[in-house]
Amino acid sequence: MKNQTNLNKWLKDFELDHPLVIGGPCSAETEEQVLKIAHELKDSDVTVYRAGIWKPRTRPGNFEGVGAIGLGWLKKVKEQTGLLIATEVANANHCKLALEADVDVLWIGARSTVSPFIVQEIADALKGTDKIVLVKNPVNPDLDLWLGGIERLYKSDIKKLGVIHRGFSTSGKSKYRNQPEWQIAIELQNKFPDLPIICDPSHISGRRDLIFDISQRALDLNFDGLMVESHCDPDNAWSDAKQQITPETLIQYMKDWRIRKLTTTEESYQSGLKNLRAKIDVIDQSLLDLLGDRMRVAEGIGELKKTKNVAVLQNKRWNEILGKMILEGEERNLSEEFILRIFKAIHQESINHQQAIFKS
Ligand code: PEP
Ligand code: MN
Repeated sequence: MKNQTNLNKWLKDFELDHPLVIGGPCSAETEEQVLKIAHELKDSDVTVYRAGIWKPRTRPGNFEGVGAIGLGWLKKVKEQTGLLIATEVANANHCKLALEADVDVLWIGARSTVSPFIVQEIADALKGTDKIVLVKNPVNPDLDLWLGGIERLYKSDIKKLGVIHRGFSTSGKSKYRNQPEWQIAIELQNKFPDLPIICDPSHISGRRDLIFDISQRALDLNFDGLMVESHCDPDNAWSDAKQQITPETLIQYMKDWRIRKLTTTEESYQSGLKNLRAKIDVIDQSLLDLLGDRMRVAEGIGELKKTKNVAVLQNKRWNEILGKMILEGEERNLSEEFILRIFKAIHQESINHQQAIFKS
């Protein structure tokens, strides 16, 4: 993408000496609730106040958001506390109403980013705006969908763009509500190094006891900010009750998070790092050599199976390998999840090589 060098200027303009923090409830519920939380957050490192007002839920019949009336409450937040205000927009009408209400930060939710139709509609409705627009990752782990969303907004001449990493849904069991899949966020950062990236630990975790650690992890990965759901009475919140924390807890967390420097010029750090990186490079090279060797052996097996007319996939053998590797991995302090991921990838590549032999 061209001309993206100014994309993060809006963040620099805040001149913060800490990451950008967006705090506030999942949903605006009542005017009183919205203002109470805002007043509790106003003299802290929170810069932007969030509250969802249009909240269609997965199943109809639950609380679905207060609607446009909440924009008036957010306006009062801005007037009374000086906090910037943020809400989610999911169609052209939301955009129109939010712009009229002078909402400072508009975010596109995960369920919208999955649809290029919706994203384009929003991009058209926001064309040329000087408001900040943040694009959450799509629900599914598809980097291209996320990139496509950003590109649509960028083409609509929206200059103050950023992204929010909120994790990806999974059908498997997991301690997270949405799997972080950090590597996808890192890849996005590599593709758009100038795009501010904010982590939403609330929707990743789905439970408040994981918020601190997920946020710290994001800060360690050099994220530019955090969006944390915060409610004065979390257990009785009308949406996402389990994952909200009180303003008091959020303020304590902001004091306790360790903010890492991007780098340091200190000689001992630089030389130590150089040394360790040289080792990593050598190990990576050996890993590649070994993987190459493994594939050559797999091709040998492919030849053998082909001549004897035996099927490529041998499930029993494969399950034995996996079980053994998980145990071996444990001894080396490698998680089961990692072993499964890496060996499934290796196995798939082996099958591809064997199939190529079968076809030849
Ligand atoms: C939200 O931030 O309130 C929200 C609905 O999040 P997501 O789009 O990430 O599910
Ligand atoms: Mn929520």
